[in-house]
Amino acid sequence: MGALLHSVFMEWQHIPDHDLERYYLGMVKDETELATLEGHILGCGSCAERADKIQDYVDAMRVAALELIDPNEGRR
Ligand SMILES: [Zn+2]
Repeated sequence: MGALLHSVFMEWQHIPDHDLERYYLGMVKDETELATLEGHILGCGSCAERADKIQDYVDAMRVAALELIDPNEGRR
């Protein structure tokens, strides 16, 4: 019985933060992986909540990166 419980937990793996980041950065190209990530986020409240926060974080990083790249921003 203990072993069965263990195997159930092993199969239900939440999405690691770095995979959520890769997902929102558009770095996940594999369609199977994309489908798995999207399916999990839709079906898992705790990952959806973390996905929301990571999306904000990724957006903030994108803005910061754009400011670094654009030589006319933030300089006089
Ligand atoms: Zn999850």
